[in-house]
Amino acid sequence: MKRATAPAPRLRLETPVTYLKGVGPMRAEALKRMGVETAGDLLYHIPHRYEDASTVSAIASLETGMQGTIIGRVISKGILPTRKGLRVFQAVVKDDSGMIEVSWPGQPFLDRTVDKGDMLLVSGLVRFFHGRQLVPREFVNLGEDDAGTAKGRVLSVYPATEGLSVRVLRGIIEAHLDELLPFVTEYLPRDVLRQAAVVSIGDALRMVHRPSSLAEALEGRARLAFEELLFVQLLQLRAKALSRDVRHGIHFQNRRDLTTRLREVLPFALTGAQMRVLREIFVDMCSDRRMQRLLQGDVGSGKTVVALFAAMLALENGYQAAIMAPTELLAEQHFHSMSKLLAPLQIEPMLVTGSLKTRARREVASRLAEATPALVVGTHALVQEATEFSNLGLAVVDEQHRFGVEQRKALGAKGESPDVLLMTATPIPRSLALTLYGDLDLSLLDERPPGRQPITTALRPESARERVLQFVDREVGQGRQAYVVYPVIEESEKSDLKAATTMFDVLSNGAFKERRTALLHGRLPSDDKDEIMRRFRDGAIDVLVATTVIEVGIDVANATVMLIEHPERFGLSQLHQLRGRVGRGADASYCILLGSVSPDTRQRLDVFVGSEDGFEIARADLRLRGMGDLFGERQSGVPTFRVADPLRDELLNEQAREAADKLLAIDPELAMPEHAALRQVMGARYARSIELFRVG
Ligand code: ADP
Ligand code: MG
Repeated sequence: MKRATAPAPRLRLETPVTYLKGVGPMRAEALKRMGVETAGDLLYHIPHRYEDASTVSAIASLETGMQGTIIGRVISKGILPTRKGLRVFQAVVKDDSGMIEVSWPGQPFLDRTVDKGDMLLVSGLVRFFHGRQLVPREFVNLGEDDAGTAKGRVLSVYPATEGLSVRVLRGIIEAHLDELLPFVTEYLPRDVLRQAAVVSIGDALRMVHRPSSLAEALEGRARLAFEELLFVQLLQLRAKALSRDVRHGIHFQNRRDLTTRLREVLPFALTGAQMRVLREIFVDMCSDRRMQRLLQGDVGSGKTVVALFAAMLALENGYQAAIMAPTELLAEQHFHSMSKLLAPLQIEPMLVTGSLKTRARREVASRLAEATPALVVGTHALVQEATEFSNLGLAVVDEQHRFGVEQRKALGAKGESPDVLLMTATPIPRSLALTLYGDLDLSLLDERPPGRQPITTALRPESARERVLQFVDREVGQGRQAYVVYPVIEESEKSDLKAATTMFDVLSNGAFKERRTALLHGRLPSDDKDEIMRRFRDGAIDVLVATTVIEVGIDVANATVMLIEHPERFGLSQLHQLRGRVGRGADASYCILLGSVSPDTRQRLDVFVGSEDGFEIARADLRLRGMGDLFGERQSGVPTFRVADPLRDELLNEQAREAADKLLAIDPELAMPEHAALRQVMGARYARSIELFRVG
């Protein structure tokens, strides 16, 4: 390990990591990327999993069919191609008793991080494949000489990064743990700790970093998860309380004028769920409290028409209503469908998008400047300066998770406290929703309009490629349209883009030679994207080769096939959103996942193949992949959890909610001296704390 040259000053929690033994400028840089800048931050860099090295077997004793854990040295390694085109990383690992081949299918990149001479801890299934072979479920690279210390212990595995391996990180933390722990003082009130039955912070940190058993590691983790959930609950409850107190909303009257007429001209009857949700919304709008409501409903559950009724209530009270959508295309789609529905009511909605000509825009502006009732549909152009409302009464944000917090807020700020309705098709379980959106009220559309065709979903292996493509071509030959989707790979978007692009060439010159094809991806200018989607909607394109940009809200009834390549690359909820693009008309529809996948992936995908229930799928997704994947980078406003998982930690979450309720009941601003430490820790961790509690 490299040593810092300057003599280290006496260590404190605030000491920058550069002063720590074993941390030079490069490693400090890497640590910083992971949010670790001080010695104290290092303590809160928590292992994301553990390896139980307390039950290590001798390699010679492993038998085919058993699960085993071994520690051994890599004596040779390499990448093997297989007939199916999968690349396999293989290493031969040896201990005092013998050696075994370890095989990682589909992970050739491991060749860069696993070196000859490294000690590996590997656990997994022993199978027979030209001899005994170990297929790792988990493994840890212990480096060159860590075997002695690892044996008999529970090993902490830390989130690592480029230039800073798990091994080095573990070494740095291990070296300073005893020195740092005495500085940590408790910041949660004693009552809270007792009621939730979690350990003190000092104990917890010791337990997670250096557990004597897996059970102990979990106990430490529970405390850290609990405090995270508690903090978020405190912030949410406080935000909710503040918005209640401060903002008085508009007091609408249910005049049953436009809303009743809309109901009469609607070509279908509202579902029970739509009626229930509308009652919830109307109660909010007709109270003098400001509505801040999140409407969740699976793809196709009919959220748009709910928004339209709410808009009619605003209009019949003399107010203006705005509906904001994330893309021009979606805005146009809403505009067209609403124009049609509202024609008998002599209401003409307006459309505001970035590509609106100056003259048209001026016209809209002048209509909005008059204090007359009006319905505007648009993109984020709605929140730009040029769009001024004289009396905005209702702001609706469709597919709200596609917007940043600022944009969402900006629409609500366009009038004098208009009521706000946020809509989303990312279904999340209620307990999770309460944590993420604790400052909103929730409505749920949990029923689908009747008469939908079920969508046939299937997973097909690579060997069926030709047949699958022929099938798609036949569907197109009968006048239908198809989507072919490729993943956006986060780590290397470039190569992914090439995949979509190259496959577009392959398909448009091969399987779909006779068809009108187009390529759609996120790097295209948005004008081009919208233009392509428009042509697809109008039937001028048969096969659309795309990335996930088509995910949001698009309604093309004639599209009946969704073909998804590399399905293993997608989250289940994302697949569900993609599938929601078909099955919108009267014809039978298909969602085909194409690719040869590992047995684990297959199991995961089977949940999706076997269910059309977005909530069930989201639950499975959360269980399997955690929160990050469900929300992706755009959910910037949502507090993220480093330790807690509000879904898995449901009980802790409830306890946290109760504790937060109690705390704020006694001390709504956390202003009491005994809560100063708590306030300070929250202030340091969550920027939002500053605006909600007077932190200082
Ligand atoms: P989403 O919730 O995904 O936004 P939409 O609002 O786009 O769903 O509705 C999907 C389709 O279902 C639209 O064509 C809409 O007209 C139709 N729809 C909505 N409500 C009903 C209903 N109660 N009965 C029949 N069709 C409905
Ligand atoms: Mg929608």
